[in-house]
Amino acid sequence: MIKIKTDLHTHTNYSWDARDTPQAMCRRAAEMGLSGIAFTEHAEWFPQQKGFEEPHAYFEDIAHCRANFGLQVFSGVELGNPHRFESEARALVETYPFDIRIGSVHWLYDENIHNKRVFNRRDPDEVLRDYFAELEEMVNNFPLDMVAHFDRIFMRAHYSRFSYDLLAAEEAIRSAFQAIVAQGIVLEFNSKHIGDKTNWNEDLLTMLEWYRDEGGERIMVNSDSHGTGQIGRNFPIAAQMLAQAGFSHVTPLEPAWLM
Ligand SMILES: [Zn+2]
Ligand SMILES: [Zn+2]
Repeated sequence: MIKIKTDLHTHTNYSWDARDTPQAMCRRAAEMGLSGIAFTEHAEWFPQQKGFEEPHAYFEDIAHCRANFGLQVFSGVELGNPHRFESEARALVETYPFDIRIGSVHWLYDENIHNKRVFNRRDPDEVLRDYFAELEEMVNNFPLDMVAHFDRIFMRAHYSRFSYDLLAAEEAIRSAFQAIVAQGIVLEFNSKHIGDKTNWNEDLLTMLEWYRDEGGERIMVNSDSHGTGQIGRNFPIAAQMLAQAGFSHVTPLEPAWLM
C-alpha cells in the first residue's frame, strides 16, 4: 500500500472560503498521524476575487504551528492562473517566503471553471483541449512547485452531464504533462472528489497512465481540504488508484521545502 503521510494543499481562515485556523488544522493532522501539512491559501486576481489575505498574521501562525504540534508545517499559496497576472503573482511570491507555490487553472474564457457557463455553447471536447492548453501555458510561464487538481475541469463536465470524448483531448493532455515533466513540477493527484458518487475516476486513471507514459514520476496526493474534517480525505482510495496506474510511491518532500 502506498503511504501518504502529508497533505500539502489545504486552506485555512486565511482563504475566503475556509474557516478553520491553522492551529485547528494542525491538531487534526497530528491526531491523524500525518507527518506534514501545508496551508496553501488562495491568491487570485480575476475581478471580484481576493488576493492572499493578511500574509503577516498568516506567517505568525505558521511559526506558532511549527513550534507547537510536532508536525512539518509548510507555508504555501495556491495561485489562480498566475501566468495571466504575472507581475502581481511574481510580486507576491517574491515578497513572502512561501515554501510551496501551487498553480491552478481556475479560469478559462474568463469564466470560473467550477461554473457551468464555461461549457455553454461550446463543444465539451474543445473545452477540455483549451483547459489543458491553458494549463500548459501556466506551467511554461510561471515558476511553480506543484500543479493542483489538473483534472478539475472534469468535475463540471460530470456534474452537468456534458458528454465528452477523453481521447479527443488526449494530445492536449499529454502535451500539458510533457510540460510538467520538462519543468520538473510535481503533479498533484487531488483526492477531493474521488470518493464522490459522481466521479470521473476511470478517466483520471487513464490520464495518470498517460502521465507515466510521458515520463511523469513526480506525484503527490493532497485533499484540498477547506476544513479540519476534510484533511486526508479519500487518501486510501487515492493510494489504490495510484498503484493501479503503476506508481509505487508518492514523491518525497523537496529538500528546499524542508529548510
Ligand atoms: Zn483550486
Ligand atoms: Zn485549493
